[in-house]
Amino acid sequence: MVYEWISHHPDETAAKAEQLGELLGSGDVLTLEGDLGAGKTTFTKGLAKGLGVKRVVNSPTFTIMKEYMGRIPLYHMDVYRLGEEWEDLGFDEYFEGEGVTIVEWAHLIQEQLPEERLEISIYHLNEWERKIFFTPYGHKYEQLCKEILA
Ligand code: ADP
Ligand code: MG
Repeated sequence: MVYEWISHHPDETAAKAEQLGELLGSGDVLTLEGDLGAGKTTFTKGLAKGLGVKRVVNSPTFTIMKEYMGRIPLYHMDVYRLGEEWEDLGFDEYFEGEGVTIVEWAHLIQEQLPEERLEISIYHLNEWERKIFFTPYGHKYEQLCKEILA
């Protein structure tokens, strides 16, 4: 089941992500796809707020991973720079760790991803509108989607 949701403003995207962040727990894994300017960072900022992160969240483009402390840690990964030549950098330690992991460009490390995860894809419709697909893999994520999108 794929859940489809339309956002009409960046604040709306951030608020939905914040709502999701409030419900997440240790070991939760989200993947985030979308072209440049789609709203990945906007979404991640909202998610971080929902996790109680006080620091400013920005794009981890020049590092593979940034860690933020909230009520539990947030591991913000951008694996773009790994390209197709990724090696196992110990992703599992994060996926199975204390915090919540959000991975941008996750398809590049498809085989490394845990089976259970929430896939989020953002599409640019026009200046202010974005179509966001939430695809849950696993019961827990299915329930989360129902809770935030019902
Ligand atoms: P990415 O990280 O995917 O490159 P950003 O979140 O950095 O994207 O940028 C998204 C841009 O699109 C921001 O300037 C934001 O204000 C704008 N925007 C306009 N409408 C929306 C919306 N509904 N949701 C998210 N961002 C939006
Ligand atoms: Mg970004």
